[in-house]
Amino acid sequence: MAEAQPRPQVDPTENVKISTAKSDRKKDIPKGLWTKCDACFDIVYNKALEENLRICPKCDHHMTLGAYERVDSLADPKSFEEMDFEVHSIDPIKFQGPKAYVDKLEDERARTGLRDAVVTGTALIEGQRAVIGVTDSRFIMGSMGSVVGEKLTRAIELATKKRLPVIIVSGSGGGARMYEGALSLMQMAKTSAALARHHRAGQLFISVLTNPTMAGIMASYASLGDIIVAEPRALIGFTGPRVIEQTIRQKLPDGFQTSEFLLEHGWLDQVINRRDLKSRLAYFSAMFKKDPAKPSSRAGSSASRKKGK
Ligand SMILES: [Zn+2]
Repeated sequence: MAEAQPRPQVDPTENVKISTAKSDRKKDIPKGLWTKCDACFDIVYNKALEENLRICPKCDHHMTLGAYERVDSLADPKSFEEMDFEVHSIDPIKFQGPKAYVDKLEDERARTGLRDAVVTGTALIEGQRAVIGVTDSRFIMGSMGSVVGEKLTRAIELATKKRLPVIIVSGSGGGARMYEGALSLMQMAKTSAALARHHRAGQLFISVLTNPTMAGIMASYASLGDIIVAEPRALIGFTGPRVIEQTIRQKLPDGFQTSEFLLEHGWLDQVINRRDLKSRLAYFSAMFKKDPAKPSSRAGSSASRKKGK
């Protein structure tokens, strides 16, 4: 079931953007040494960025973290056991667009070192065992195809069975994966149903939203957390602000669809800096820990209700 798999080798500088603002300057910047911050436009030394969990040291902007980097940032050393690494898409509708789906998948795998847009497994987080899933917004925009849906569902089901908390860190600008047609949409129901069973078993689900978490992922499992937290200044919503403005013909308020806006309006439980995320998740897991030997209070109360009838 949960087997440790050899980790794919990825060039850590692969998704690094090099400044192209000044062509004369570009020549002086060795490739892969520096990254330009999208928020303050400062140039940051990559080594400093890696040591800082890809948070800009100048302005605290949280840059995209790959799925395995995220796992490393949360799991205790050598505690992560990946599951279902081999699960891959079989191109169910034989999609042919400007690029065939099979070719697109091959390109994305080579570019990111991932099999698909999600990594799942079990890990210890400051000694607290949990099932974790991380979607990666770099792989076809982190869209939820059948592999993402299936792997997350299996992870949730394992957590329910083992009576463990499930923590899913989401990053997706894509939502549904159109290359898989209606099968992609079904993943919304599938993951949500698995979480409903997890919830009925009295177990904890913590949803962590990162920049960006949009569309189908946001419209399904990501918004179903018992605890929902987000990284600072993440874009979170269903449809992009421009489409909403065009539809309702109104100007949206400043900061609409950011973590801070959603926290202020009561939708989010906390905004957590990436540096504090691990300890906060461990704290939540410990706080809601259930004794595996005992049935949950929810199951217990429904059993006693039945008895009383
Ligand atoms: Zn910055």
